[in-house]
Amino acid sequence: MTDDQSRVIPARREGPFESAEEVRLSLYRELRGERSGRRDDAVMVPCFFCPTSFQTSHGVYRGKHIPRYQIDVCQGCYDGNWDGWAPRYEAQLVHHLEANGLRIPERNEKGWLPRD
Ligand SMILES: [Zn+2]
Repeated sequence: MTDDQSRVIPARREGPFESAEEVRLSLYRELRGERSGRRDDAVMVPCFFCPTSFQTSHGVYRGKHIPRYQIDVCQGCYDGNWDGWAPRYEAQLVHHLEANGLRIPERNEKGWLPRD
């Protein structure tokens, strides 16, 4: 036996592993969110504040549209700022309001722009 023969990599066998492959593919699709209602034609909206995009179609709404500011934010940003948009969000928000001719609302008791 030569060294070459001892290092032969077995050929990939077809058949017995097809079901395992299908399981792997379905897990992959699940990880990509292609399950539980999300479809290829799902409308994804980018969050105004963070790099998240969220689905707003097929009965799934994982974010909020805020009419006062005319922005869309993900549920995480919305829920995490129930007491107003913290100072770190302000420059971006004010810039957006001014660029779109929208009124800058009165600040809340914390001195922050109201969330809604
Ligand atoms: Zn967000």
